[in-house]
Amino acid sequence: MENTKEMRSWLDDMGLDHPLVIAGPCSAETEEQVMRIANDLKDTDVNYYRAGIWKPRTRPGNFEGVGALGLKWLQKVKAETGMKTATEVANRAHVELALEHDIDLLWIGARSTVSPFIVQEIADALEGTDKVVLIKNPVNPDLSLWLGAVERLYSANIKKLGVIHRGFSTYEKTKYRNIPEWQLAIDLQTRFPDLPIINDPSHITGKRDMIFDVSQTALDLNFDGLMIETHYDPDNAWSDAAQQVTPERLVQIMQDLRIRKESDAEAEYNSKLSNLRAQIDVIDNQLIDTLGKRMKISDGIGQLKKQKNVAVLQSNRWNQILGAMILEGEANGLSEEFVLRMFKAIHQESINHQEKIIKA
Ligand code: PEP
Ligand code: MN
Repeated sequence: MENTKEMRSWLDDMGLDHPLVIAGPCSAETEEQVMRIANDLKDTDVNYYRAGIWKPRTRPGNFEGVGALGLKWLQKVKAETGMKTATEVANRAHVELALEHDIDLLWIGARSTVSPFIVQEIADALEGTDKVVLIKNPVNPDLSLWLGAVERLYSANIKKLGVIHRGFSTYEKTKYRNIPEWQLAIDLQTRFPDLPIINDPSHITGKRDMIFDVSQTALDLNFDGLMIETHYDPDNAWSDAAQQVTPERLVQIMQDLRIRKESDAEAEYNSKLSNLRAQIDVIDNQLIDTLGKRMKISDGIGQLKKQKNVAVLQSNRWNQILGAMILEGEANGLSEEFVLRMFKAIHQESINHQEKIIKA
């Protein structure tokens, strides 16, 4: 992908003074629902009105979208509100129908990006289009697979491109529906700084009360925009009820977000600073998470020691760890003194955990 500047011209040409906003319901449900939400959003910062027409549901038997009928409703949205429209496409038939109905922005969903066959089929069907095409990250945290999809579209002479970061599946239960793995998005930005990147806090969080914080992190990391699922009656939405916000809440979120402006030197400094701080925050969270996991394993060792009735402190093992970590630290630019102090603190916490278990 030699000319990534060209990919963002569609966004730059909009001349926005705020991040790009794509909002609207997870699914188009009825014509009345689609029009009512569109009317609520038409005089806000929303640039593209989204609604899923074909819904990729994890388990069969759930609402799978209204199908092509919904494309007519999106056309009506554009005619009556002037908002541009966006929907997900997952095969050639979807693409043909969406183009016939003049949908302005098509996105490839996370469950499609994982399949090079599907992505290629969509790229072939879209060949040479002047519509905007956004590629959601694959459900698994694989940067090459994500970039591979962008390359397939770029090679099909589709030049108005961008990506949507919607988080990644895990078996482990976390506070997120799909963990953000911010580092992966940061790596992508480092490699393709001009490729527009939109954050989807709805699918990352799965919960509406976490959407603001994730959106703020994304903007601090220089994301170009947000895709936020919006419904006048989120609790009764036919899909993704817990993660949709009302149009009023969306307006409030946009008002409260600290949005960086890059016009003068001061702003540039602040923007760089908040970007670096956001990267530090991501890593600090990982540190705490990792330490928590370490202590859980240590608890397991405590249980074993209790059964065997052995002492908590085993100095050879401890000296081994220290020696190895000092060397590892050196290789990573960390002083021996720092590594020693840090591991003493970690070790002490570990001992406290195990003692609690043995005394219990
Ligand atoms: C959606 O945007 O409603 C959707 C299905 O998203 P994802 O592909 O990220 O799961
Ligand atoms: Mn959804």
